[in-house]
Amino acid sequence: MTDFPVPAALDGHGPARIVALCNQKGGVGKTTTSVNLAAALAEYGRKVLLVDFDPQGAASAGLGVQSNDLETTVYDLLMRSGVNTKDVIVETQVQGLDLLPANIDLSAAEVQLVGEVARESALARALRTVEDDYDTILIDCQPSLGLLTVNGLVAAHGVLIPLAAEFFAMRGVALLVDTITKVQDRLNPRLTIDAIIPTMYDGRTLHSHEVVERVRDGFGDKVTETMIHRTVKFPDATVAAEPITSYAPNHQGAKAYRELARELIARGVFA
Ligand code: ADP
Ligand code: MG
Repeated sequence: MTDFPVPAALDGHGPARIVALCNQKGGVGKTTTSVNLAAALAEYGRKVLLVDFDPQGAASAGLGVQSNDLETTVYDLLMRSGVNTKDVIVETQVQGLDLLPANIDLSAAEVQLVGEVARESALARALRTVEDDYDTILIDCQPSLGLLTVNGLVAAHGVLIPLAAEFFAMRGVALLVDTITKVQDRLNPRLTIDAIIPTMYDGRTLHSHEVVERVRDGFGDKVTETMIHRTVKFPDATVAAEPITSYAPNHQGAKAYRELARELIARGVFA
C-alpha cells in the first residue's frame, strides 16, 4: 500500500473542480463517501461545497442540516429564476465545508425539468456563480440514471463511482459507463471517469476480496488503492448527523476517508 503524502496547503482558493459521485445502485456508499470525503478534504484546508442532489436529502441530514425546514434548496435553483446560489448554500459544522441542501421537493424537478430549455444543464448554471469560491465541489447523485443524474454529469469535470464489494456490484456498471459516455459525446466533452472506489469491503470474507479482484481486472488503475471497509461506525455517524472524521476521528473509517482524500489529491482528481 502506498502511503499517500499529506497535501501541501493551497495558496488561494478556486476555481473548483466539480466531481459527481454516481452509481444508479442504491446503498453502495455514494452519500457516505460524499460526506466523509468532503469532510476529509476540508480537514486538509480545502474549501469544499457538497451538493446534495438526491431528494432523500441524506447528505444534508448526514451533515446535521434539517433540510425539510429550509425555505430554499437546490430545487429552487433549478426551477426558479432570480434565486442566488450563494443564498441557498448553508455552512456546516465542519470548517471549510458548505452544503447546497436538498429535500423531497427535488423529486418534482425530475418531471418539471423535462419541459425546460437546456434541461440537462440546470445544475451547471446554478453552480457557475460559486465555482470560484471553492477548491472542490462534490455532487451526491441520486440512485438513478434519470435527468437529475444527467444534470450532475453535465455540471461535473469528473465522476467518482463508489462500488460495493458485493456479489452484484458489477451489475449495472456497464449501463452507468454507457450513460457517462453519452453525456461526454452529447453534452459535456470534458467529463472523465476519475476513479472507482471500492466500498463496504469486508476483509474477513474471501468473497469481498474476489469482487475487488474482478473490479481491478476490469478497470485497472482507475480503481483506487484505498478501500473503504465495512463498519457499523458509518451508520452510527449518520445517526449522529456528523462525518466520521469528527464523530470518530481516530477510527479506521475516518482514516480511510483521509487516505482516500490524499490518494485522490495525489492522482490530480482534487487540488
Ligand atoms: P448510497 O448513497 O449509495 O445509497 P449510503 O452512503 O447512503 O449509500 O449507504 C447506505 C447505507 O450503508 C447507510 O446506512 C450507510 O450508513 C451504510 N454504509 C455506507 N458505507 C458503509 C460502510 N463502509 N460500512 C458499513 N455501512 C456503510
Ligand atoms: Mg445516497
